[in-house]
Amino acid sequence: MSTLCTVVRLRLPGVDSVDDLGERLARHVETCLTCQAESARYRTLRHRLGGLAEQTTTAPATLVPSVVIRIENPDLEETGDRRAVVRRAAIAVSAAAGAAVAATAGTIIVIGLRRAHQAA
Ligand SMILES: [Zn+2]
Repeated sequence: MSTLCTVVRLRLPGVDSVDDLGERLARHVETCLTCQAESARYRTLRHRLGGLAEQTTTAPATLVPSVVIRIENPDLEETGDRRAVVRRAAIAVSAAAGAAVAATAGTIIVIGLRRAHQAA
């Protein structure tokens, strides 16, 4: 492996393509099978990482309560007690979300009734 190979190997992670390496290094890659193989590996890696941006995942409902409880209680052991606390916190979060939806719906109904009353 030549010095140019080493430079190419060091710089490939920081560029989008071989052309971004500069003219001298790009010319080296055109003639060096080792650097071409390394470049192809990075091209494949960039392609696969780009595909990850299109994927979505949904966090489980207990994730947020679990993290909050762990932050608030760093000494809490991994036991049934902890799972029960997380379950109660998840129920509390769900209830709070339900109350927020109900309050929003109530506000919309009140506004609608006032507008209907004013129009009459
Ligand atoms: Zn090389």
